[in-house]
Amino acid sequence: MNLIEFTQKLLRIQSITPRDMGCFDLIEPELKELGFSTKRINYLNVENLYAEIGSGENFCFLGHTDVVPTGPVESWSCDPFAAEIKENVITARGAADMKSSISAFLFALKDIDLSKNRKKISILLTSNEEGDAKDGTIEKVLDELKQNNNAINYCLAGEPSSKNELGDTVRIGRRGSLSGSLTIIGKQGHVAYPSDVVNPIMLSGGIIKELSEKQWDQGNENFPPTSFQISNINAGTGAKNVVPGDLKIEFNFRFSPEITEDEIKAEVVKVIEENIKNYELDWELNANPFYTEKLFLRNIVTKSIKKITGINTIEDTGGGTSDGRFMHPHGAEVVELGPINASIHKIDEHIKIDHLEVLKDIYRDILISYIES
Ligand SMILES: [Zn+2]
Repeated sequence: MNLIEFTQKLLRIQSITPRDMGCFDLIEPELKELGFSTKRINYLNVENLYAEIGSGENFCFLGHTDVVPTGPVESWSCDPFAAEIKENVITARGAADMKSSISAFLFALKDIDLSKNRKKISILLTSNEEGDAKDGTIEKVLDELKQNNNAINYCLAGEPSSKNELGDTVRIGRRGSLSGSLTIIGKQGHVAYPSDVVNPIMLSGGIIKELSEKQWDQGNENFPPTSFQISNINAGTGAKNVVPGDLKIEFNFRFSPEITEDEIKAEVVKVIEENIKNYELDWELNANPFYTEKLFLRNIVTKSIKKITGINTIEDTGGGTSDGRFMHPHGAEVVELGPINASIHKIDEHIKIDHLEVLKDIYRDILISYIES
């Protein structure tokens, strides 16, 4: 099986998050054949595959085999799990995020002489990146590795980082993500009796205005300023003549390292309490921001991209959250490099065959530089 055939085979598995559905069964024997020792580390309902070869400093490729749901299948130009190739493009759910990266890395490994390797190379794959990553257990796997004196020093994540051309952008950090759920408690009643009601919808106006206009920080040279967005507002009884008893707002912060989770929370509470008395507020921290300061892995990746594609890559911290956030607190240098992200999570997700080959060549060059460093 060649790179393209293997990628198609992986894409035909309907591994909708948080299920692996047999992707590991396809990958594991290939790694064993290359001399890797492999281990399944499962927590709750989530499967993880860890494989390693060599000893010493640990260079780990991080990936996930799960994909997001397809959305309406009839909107796709082809079956999202058929992995058809048309005009040198593979269209399938997971083609860009990120089964192609996994197979590119695997075939990069096949392409180098591992007998010369005197360092540790590992692969960590999870089946729950796209879903609720709390059971996603990358953290638990990392704890287990650390206990066995097997901490990861360098992490290359295959997340789709590229913008217009393969390799034009890599991620060396990500913003934090903090979600909140605010319930404004009012008093239900007839719209014709304003003195008998407390209207939570009208009370929400001031709070929304202040939170949306507020400057949370200025960001810094590596991060844009912290942003606030509302994703949902819900109120109303269904009747046009009734003031509802409460209103619920769901919101999210994407935050830079210039502000902390606690500082954001305190500011939000201040704004709320300036406006209303009765409310309930729940928080969920999805991710803290991280940033890779050290240059060792960054330089290797940047040079390999230049060598293979001629592109001077941009290192940035954009995009949503990624599993890189679990690696960084464990002391790993994290760089994310993968396919163009324009079609991820969308109808007709795809990757160009050329890009799959180029990605493999870049990964191969990164591995060689690491081994020879
Ligand atoms: Zn992904």
